[in-house]
Amino acid sequence: MKDVKIENMDWVSYKEITESGDCKIILPVGAIEQHGPHMSLNPDVLIPSYISEQVAKKGNKMLVAPAISYGYKSQVKSGGGNFFPGTTCVSGSSLEQYVYDVLLAYVNHGNREFILVNGHFENSVYLCEAADKLVNHCELRGMKVKVYLLSYWDFISDDTISKVFPDGFTGWAIEHGGVLETSIMLKIHPELVDMTKAVDVEPATFPPYDVFPSDPSWIAPSGTLSSPVKATAEKGKLILDECIEGIVKHLN
Ligand code: ZN
Ligand code: MN
Repeated sequence: MKDVKIENMDWVSYKEITESGDCKIILPVGAIEQHGPHMSLNPDVLIPSYISEQVAKKGNKMLVAPAISYGYKSQVKSGGGNFFPGTTCVSGSSLEQYVYDVLLAYVNHGNREFILVNGHFENSVYLCEAADKLVNHCELRGMKVKVYLLSYWDFISDDTISKVFPDGFTGWAIEHGGVLETSIMLKIHPELVDMTKAVDVEPATFPPYDVFPSDPSWIAPSGTLSSPVKATAEKGKLILDECIEGIVKHLN
């Protein structure tokens, strides 16, 4: 099986593949964030990393860069909030600058096309900014650089949603640590999930505003925004297959 991870390559092999500039570099970006007592802190890193590797293996001339593990601050209404022990986040300006610097280093090796695979909702706007600044910077220096930006959940169809949530889907906004992420983790890293510790919570409801400092009473003590108890590895496979196939179809 071909190794698509840049960090496992020697520099000479890396140079041979990338110097012509027609290789796509996939960069997974995640977060270290609590996902309930039943799961590790890193689903937002491991899920886009896994998807990126599978896409690169199926794709033509694609490599996966080491993931950026730290993401933008967990927000109560999408990630439970930044106050949970273990949730370890950076500011938006730090994330933006870091992603920009990493991409620019790859540009300096001769690479011209990138795919950012996001695994943490809160990162989105800072990844937009990093990509936009990079292409503008490169354009001024006469280099044509292209950055694709995607969040893997945008590749999941209504058909798959109806299979994964046969009792009804309560919406993407509260899929934090619930059936979606837990199912994927059961498929790719079952050793990091303990379903005996999964807490059955009601789907979270929030007021139509945010408040700072955050109010921990807005979120269930377990930290998930919906219940993970109906997660299965089979559901995880269904979701992953569709995301990987969709990304390859659009971006290969
Ligand atoms: Zn997550
Ligand atoms: Mn997250």
